[in-house]
Amino acid sequence: MAEPTGLRDGNVSRGGGSGELRQSNLTAILRYLRDHGPSSRHDTARGCGLGVSTMTDLVGDLRSRRLVAELDPIRRPGAGRPTRPIALDGEPWCVMGVHVEVDRVHVQGSTVGGTELWQDTLSAVFADDHDGALVLADAIASQLSRVPEGHQLVAVEIAVPGYVGLDGTSVTSRALGWDGAGVGKAVRAALGETGLTDVSVGISSDFHLAGLYAARVLLSDPATTVAAYFGGLSEVGSALVVNGEIFRGAGGGAGDLAHLHVQADGPECWCGRLGCLNSVLRVQELLARAGLRDAEQAAELVVTDPEQAVSLLVEGARDGDAGVLAALEQAGSSLGRAVDDVLGSVNPHAVILGGYLGRLAPFLMPALDRQLRARVHEGPYADTQILVTDQDPPVTAGAVLAARDACLYDPLALTTPLR
Ligand SMILES: [Zn+2]
Repeated sequence: MAEPTGLRDGNVSRGGGSGELRQSNLTAILRYLRDHGPSSRHDTARGCGLGVSTMTDLVGDLRSRRLVAELDPIRRPGAGRPTRPIALDGEPWCVMGVHVEVDRVHVQGSTVGGTELWQDTLSAVFADDHDGALVLADAIASQLSRVPEGHQLVAVEIAVPGYVGLDGTSVTSRALGWDGAGVGKAVRAALGETGLTDVSVGISSDFHLAGLYAARVLLSDPATTVAAYFGGLSEVGSALVVNGEIFRGAGGGAGDLAHLHVQADGPECWCGRLGCLNSVLRVQELLARAGLRDAEQAAELVVTDPEQAVSLLVEGARDGDAGVLAALEQAGSSLGRAVDDVLGSVNPHAVILGGYLGRLAPFLMPALDRQLRARVHEGPYADTQILVTDQDPPVTAGAVLAARDACLYDPLALTTPLR
């Protein structure tokens, strides 16, 4: 089984041994079908730069693994022989997307092909006196009974509210009280005890996965698009998604736009910085600045009922409350400064505002637009799209996508021929 690394962009390098080349060609076909849907063999071969005979051999291999299916023939008027399109299959293979929160774990089971199998939410105590990694590993192992008969688990992706270590398996999270918790090791051991020794176990920051999902769903052609994502439930999280993949950078920490410096003397963030984007944009700060709650009440409300906390701001703004409008104007300006810097450093096709930033977007956009004026007058940035979605950050769904990808990117190690 391939060990997860800090840099997993799905591009297996070409030109190694023949095994490596084969793996890379198989993955190219699977990615093409994932990104384009059912396609003719001709289009798939051309899109992947493969010859006809190589294509026949590789598709035969993928069909034997039930990763690709041949669909019913399509007859085109005037064309010769009817052609049979091919499509992603993956139905016998099961993956698990896991989202770890402070006091609970969300799990979603799916086939590699994308059919949802089950959803569950487990309460879990990750307090300091427990070994959090073991608690999580037990929670994941308890879900194995949900894998339906005839399906085999091949990949698990775990979304954590924190940073993943350079080894790709340890997690540091202030929210969970984890300092280098050995999550990957514990989960592999728990799966291994049940005989599952070849399951891919990936770990990512929760907002990387939320950004991945948002980019794949919202962008018209994610495979050729660069996107920056900002979202959150009550605090800002962020990601960069390049050509449909999380951009992780040298150590897995790229896309941490939520903690860009936007104010020299701003409030203190949990990250330790003064005046980072999250410190001035998080919901508790906005509630207090708008005069809707004092600092203590605001801090409590975002924990007990984050949705209600955001609703107070939305309703206040709709009612024309001067304090709320001023707070959101200032917030839009701060977000605009951060977005301006991101446009200059990354030049994305799109900036996605999701989660509570999506809900507040109508009131943030005027000030945000003003901050971008100097930028979008310049040619390279003129076509930048700002996309808004007010759905909760889709972290579990993003983890499912990443787990399905793990199988597409390593089909030879994670699946076996079935016929
Ligand atoms: Zn911060």
